[in-house]
Amino acid sequence: MSLSKTVRQAFKAEFREPPACIVRAPGRVNLIGEHTDYNDGFVFPMAIERATFIALRPRADNKVLAISLDMDDRREFALDALPSPTETEWIDYLVGVAWSLQERGYNLRGWEGVVSGDVPIGSGLSSSAALELVVARAFFEVSGFVWDAAAMALACQAAENEWLGVKCGIMDQMISAAGVRDRALLIDCRSLEATSAPLPPDTVLVILDTNTRRGLVDSAYNERRAQCEAAARHFGVRALRDVDSELFAQREEELEPLMRARARHVITENERTLRARDAMNAGDAATLGHLMIASHFSLRDDFEVSSPALDAIVACANADAACYGARMTGAGFGGCAVALVKADQVEQFVARVGDCYQDATGNESIITVTGASRGAETLYP
Ligand code: ADP
Ligand code: MG
Repeated sequence: MSLSKTVRQAFKAEFREPPACIVRAPGRVNLIGEHTDYNDGFVFPMAIERATFIALRPRADNKVLAISLDMDDRREFALDALPSPTETEWIDYLVGVAWSLQERGYNLRGWEGVVSGDVPIGSGLSSSAALELVVARAFFEVSGFVWDAAAMALACQAAENEWLGVKCGIMDQMISAAGVRDRALLIDCRSLEATSAPLPPDTVLVILDTNTRRGLVDSAYNERRAQCEAAARHFGVRALRDVDSELFAQREEELEPLMRARARHVITENERTLRARDAMNAGDAATLGHLMIASHFSLRDDFEVSSPALDAIVACANADAACYGARMTGAGFGGCAVALVKADQVEQFVARVGDCYQDATGNESIITVTGASRGAETLYP
């Protein structure tokens, strides 16, 4: 049964009538442009078919009552007395989005409903952004303000940064808000300008989940951000986005080796991401694949955010005749890789990479073929 049916039925069982509407917001996978978003750079994600749904109806008072099927939990809060986050729980994402929207002057009304999603939690496909955006969409439906995808993405990012205390760039929220069916979105993380491009003809994206997570992601992420900020200061610019490879080549000797390597990743990754857009617009799968492979090496060697499991699954994919190119995706240290694959050989590819990864590591992978879905939207039952 589809998730929209699941939340609709659960809503009817709970509230004895059909929901007023169902809202949906997707997870994402990033094709290329990794660790560039917080450097004001370019990212190229795609909204995936996995998403979070809420079936809801408005309330006359200013309360939110949410039932999570996935957490088997039921919570209520008032919009004029938001409960502070203690340890992060699922409800804190709802409260955080309410806080952030109200901070920005949106006049919110209450709602009640049922939440469920199939974006795997913590595997790097951004279940948190999907939850934030679907909640923003729920408030939009009952409160009647104007939906502006970039404004919603910024509000949700602020919720995650300031209410949840998780440092993250704008990519996840922006693609979950603004995804385009059958297309990936090149996002300029400084201006938030987004332009879409189709995957090359006869290709599909395959998400390769290594089934590994590593604990140190947050501290390593913060450390990388600090290193990038320090490198930008050294060049006297606002962010590494403002340094191109020419300027870098002239002055890289001034940086100590670690900072130099971190900066080199960001600078070359921004350039690869723009070239990827050109390759996609030209329908050039081979070039796009090569850029993805180069991105992986840069993340592995210069930015040092890969892991043995990610390297193993990427090597399996890149050795496969059906694959144009594969790379780790997301923050790194575990989680998922993404591969651009010939559509007519995808089944064989999935089977072969699963076996190859198991032989190399002893682990099972979780492999998903995905199309590009729309960003946050409303479905009427
Ligand atoms: P991810 O990489 O998937 O974004 P995060 O740790 O950033 O992982 O966010 C995961 C958290 O988001 C979960 O622990 C939970 O609190 C919340 N969350 C995500 N999806 C759901 C859902 N469908 N229902 C309830 N909570 C969810
Ligand atoms: Mg997240």
